[in-house]
Amino acid sequence: MIPNTFDYTAPATLKNALALIGEGGKPLAGGMSLIPMMKLRLASPKHLIDVGRIAELNYIREQDGKLHIGANATHYDVESSSLLQGKCPLLAETAARIGDIQVRNRGTLGGSVAHADPSADYPAALQALEAGITLMSASGARTVPAADFFVDTFTTALEPGELVTEVVVPIEAGLTGTSYQKFLQSASGFAVVGIAARVRREAGKITLARIGVTGVSGISYRAIKTEQALEGKAGTDAEIAAAAALVADGVEASADLHASAVYRLHLASNYAARAIRAALSRSV
Ligand code: FAD
Repeated sequence: MIPNTFDYTAPATLKNALALIGEGGKPLAGGMSLIPMMKLRLASPKHLIDVGRIAELNYIREQDGKLHIGANATHYDVESSSLLQGKCPLLAETAARIGDIQVRNRGTLGGSVAHADPSADYPAALQALEAGITLMSASGARTVPAADFFVDTFTTALEPGELVTEVVVPIEAGLTGTSYQKFLQSASGFAVVGIAARVRREAGKITLARIGVTGVSGISYRAIKTEQALEGKAGTDAEIAAAAALVADGVEASADLHASAVYRLHLASNYAARAIRAALSRSV
């Protein structure tokens, strides 16, 4: 279908973009999600503000003991960054699992988190990493923890006039292992279930476990019961299976053409066990 008519502006600076978004303009980044929605007339923005050309939002750097990834970093930038591969392999691994090469070349980190698709991959990793998401408007900036940013299906903590400008991830010393495991929709690559695990084992005991979940329900979340079941344990197969069985405890699983709720729950515990095992094997 053809979208409704709209105005289009491509500001060169963040300042100009924020001014236009403050007046009600709709950000456009890679267009991988927004343009199809416009074509289906599920979205009919009057004024598109193309933030994808703003160089100030395109960076991946280390600063003050944290990794800062600009909103315009494409999935391919994240996947191929040697800095992230070395210091935050979970994010690079997750980006590499998104869609296909065309989507990874166009789609952006900022666009993906702002879109908050319940089957998107990044939210699981950002939950497990306890990442922060920086939001900026013409009047200032704030950084929101991932756990508070993803509010509901396609709904985030973004207020009118705000733009996602970067994702911030703390850098950790050794001993922490991570893994992202997903069961994907074969046509698109979106996660039917995606589990990100971040674990640390010291002197034979798991001292930290963070498990991020996507795809299972309408919103990404941290599997706190699984985390609690793992911490203090050695990480035997039986302990991992018992903890993984709690990954969707109390969660209302989605049902759609890709998977029934019962099948999703089955996948969730299986993929949680895989992710935890793989992360533990990297915790050295
Ligand atoms: P856009 O489409 O430009 O924008 C999406 C939304 O975010 C819009 O509402 C827009 O206004 C808003 N927005 C954009 N940038 C910002 C910003 N900086 N601040 C605030 N709001 C902003 N995703 C996965 O996670 N896993 C997959 O396997 C996967 N497979 C895909 C397969 C196909 C065929 C396609 C088309 C998409 C797939 N995606 C997948 C989605 C893809 O990752 C998109 O890139 C992503 O969802 C949106 O990023 P974008 O930069 O294209 O944003």
